[in-house]
Amino acid sequence: MKISFLGAADGVTGSRHFIDTGSQKLLLDCGLFQGWKLHRERNWQPPGPLLQADAVVLSHAHLDHSGWLPALVARGWRGPIYASPATCELAAVLLLDSAHLQEEDARRANRYGTSRHDKALPLYTRADALRAIAQFVPVAPGRVQRLGGAGAATFKLTPVGHLLGACAVTLSSGGQNIVFSGDIGRQHDLLMPAPQTPDLAEAADALIIESTYGNRSHPGDDPAEALAEIVRRAAARGGSVLMPAFAVGRAQALLLVLQRLKRSGAIPSSLPIYLDSPMAEQATELYLRHGALLRVTQRERAALCDGLRQVSTVAQSTRLSAKLAGRGFPALVISASGMATGGRVLHHLKAMAPDPRHAIVMAGFQAGGTRGARLVAGEREVKIHGEWVPVRAEVVQLQGFSGHADAGELIDWARRLRQPPRQTFVVHGEADAADTLRTRIQRELGWAVRVPGYGETVSL
Ligand SMILES: [Zn+2]
Repeated sequence: MKISFLGAADGVTGSRHFIDTGSQKLLLDCGLFQGWKLHRERNWQPPGPLLQADAVVLSHAHLDHSGWLPALVARGWRGPIYASPATCELAAVLLLDSAHLQEEDARRANRYGTSRHDKALPLYTRADALRAIAQFVPVAPGRVQRLGGAGAATFKLTPVGHLLGACAVTLSSGGQNIVFSGDIGRQHDLLMPAPQTPDLAEAADALIIESTYGNRSHPGDDPAEALAEIVRRAAARGGSVLMPAFAVGRAQALLLVLQRLKRSGAIPSSLPIYLDSPMAEQATELYLRHGALLRVTQRERAALCDGLRQVSTVAQSTRLSAKLAGRGFPALVISASGMATGGRVLHHLKAMAPDPRHAIVMAGFQAGGTRGARLVAGEREVKIHGEWVPVRAEVVQLQGFSGHADAGELIDWARRLRQPPRQTFVVHGEADAADTLRTRIQRELGWAVRVPGYGETVSL
């Protein structure tokens, strides 16, 4: 088999691994490039070999893994997209929202003339997303699925925590195996059970492992207590707390923690919680529907939305922004997107960032080049909708909410493979994270390991 590393090979976005088995061509993930402009421009490059894929196997629904599927479909690709049942449902929500944002961006670029082209076109449309969603085929984790007739490659999904439905993929063809980690979750996640390692009797010919936090250890302190302190501090100043959050996964984890803090009296139970993201609303329903996949009790799941103020319409969201910019009444606001790259949170950010009474809590990984990364780096001014906005609010990054395993957890996950893989490829990390994990795998596990370059092809 041959593996071509067509994304997430020099950064954390655009996860795409193209596998040529000799008789079949398969794509593991088909992610969107996000963050740095240099990376985002890759979204506009022609699909090249991707169009030849017989099938896509998707590790999980996050857009850096799934978000280019509508673009592939828009360019004429018609094949099955295999994923776990929960991933199929979550990806539908995420892809439609992504298409909406692409259309909005194009509209805005045309309105303000910020496009370098005569007329800005969206990368893909809602119609493209709907067509991609129709090509999804749900496959239960643990089941061996054949990708075609006799002699065709097979794959098996193994749950890895991280996000509802997220799985590692073990691809087998002609007696060779490739294990792809997808994104690995944490041992003690708020919502998801601990990640499992594929139970493979023989040595994998290749392990492709993510390294988002390959150079970091998550702090041991309780993220709930840290969040409680920020909320109490801001409320004492008469300020509100804005939590830009991924609508899927992070918003539900924050909601769970805030409800627990209110119940325990750690924060005032009178503080209103606003969930300003129609997608987060949909995702919350999905999380509750697949509640058996979570590590949250039935009782807590039932109370998750108690007293919650869902902000459904744009008009309601605009009113909330005006309120936040005005008297700064203490409120807790969860809104998307998580790295403040788009969505309704931008209006709240514009309203709240200039006021030192407020707090902005970034509860997760911020990819380089995003507005979120600039905020946590302490920049005192950020550009929103073409306007420079001063940042005087308290900005805090809470690592404890991360959905990604840290370096030690990644090593532990890999160590649980029954046999050392013949080759290990470290992907899905910024340069330093990938290289640090590579060194640790070499030193602590003694495995043959390297970091592949973007566009590189290796033969197994
Ligand atoms: Zn992910």
